[in-house]
This record gives sequence, C-alpha cells and structure tokens, in this order.
Amino acid sequence: MAVSGTSYLYGLWPPFSEAVRYLLAYASYYNLEGSIVSGLRSLQEQAGLYAQGRTQSEILNRVSKRGAGGSVTDAPPGSSAHNYGLAVDIEGRDQARIIQLARAIGFGTVSWDPAHIEWPGWQNLVGR
Ligand SMILES: [Zn+2]
Repeated sequence: MAVSGTSYLYGLWPPFSEAVRYLLAYASYYNLEGSIVSGLRSLQEQAGLYAQGRTQSEILNRVSKRGAGGSVTDAPPGSSAHNYGLAVDIEGRDQARIIQLARAIGFGTVSWDPAHIEWPGWQNLVGR
C-alpha cells in the first residue's frame, strides 16, 4: 500500500474509517506516498499535545497558536475531531497531494495544519 500507518484506522468512527480507506485507494491509484501518523486520541493524549509549545497561562487562557512556538494543536481535550475518531493526520512525501485529494473528495481540512483531515461538520455529530 502506498500510504502506510493503517493501524491508526483502528477506533475511528466506522463511516470515517471507510472514507479514509477510499482516500487511500485513490492515493494508491495515483502512486502517492504518505503515512497516517495519528488517528483516535484519548483526552489524556490530547491534553499532552495541547500542552506542547504552550505556557501554563496560554493553556489556561486557551490561546490560539496555529503552530507557533512549537505548538502542535489548537484544540484542548474534547474539542478535537481526533478525540471522537473523526480525524487522521497524514505526513510524508506526497502529503500535499493526498490532502488536496481528500479535500476534493469532501473531507474537511484545517488551513494552518497541513497534515489534518476530518469528517466535515464533525461537531454536529458529537453535539459540540
Ligand atoms: Zn489532526
């Protein structure tokens, strides 16, 4: 398979998991290479990621950093699609083309996070 890291499909919401498999089949058809590097995250994992690149004050005040200062996410625990199995992150050689393909298929993306794709409108599914 041209895109590795499919173990991260475990625990995703089944329709989202199937959509990602569809994307991977497309990526494979175009000989695109990449790797899924994140999928479902616990609230504890999300808290750890959210703390990266943030001071205590920035955590308490939920300061949006958009990747600045070594931050890796702007989503506190419970406010990331990853916490509900509704997002994956893809890196690797053809990341930009895979994300572009994902957007064309209908996945949601985040402008400042080049790795992230999510179920569009996922907040409605989880009541956020
Ligand atoms: Zn992500």
